Amino acid sequence: MSATFTEVLPARKSSKHSAIQWRPVTDDTHVAGVLTIHTDRASVAYTVSEFPTDWPGRGFLLAKETAGTDPESERYSVFCAAAGPWGDTCDCKGFTYKATCKHVDAVRALVGNAWL
Ligand SMILES: [Zn+2]
Repeated sequence: MSATFTEVLPARKSSKHSAIQWRPVTDDTHVAGVLTIHTDRASVAYTVSEFPTDWPGRGFLLAKETAGTDPESERYSVFCAAAGPWGDTCDCKGFTYKATCKHVDAVRALVGNAWL
């Protein structure tokens, strides 16, 4: 059995108590691990893979493993800026409206803890 890591996410209006679980995948060259984001409304698992980016930072693809809160969206591209969290982006609907989202929070926590 592989190790699982957990971390609390910042409280947001949309979810006061959020957390992530991270399970690294070592036997797959494309997938870095499985990320589960727990919010007040749902728990959603994603496979996380890094993709190359020309921007100063790191890009990750989050592909949904289980049904989430937005059934229309199955995968998200999250950019974690080298300059800091204010440069992070995500292509989900929530980020478009609020400039924050659970995907950015989760990836920022993964990178901050050096799990990715
Ligand atoms: Zn997002």
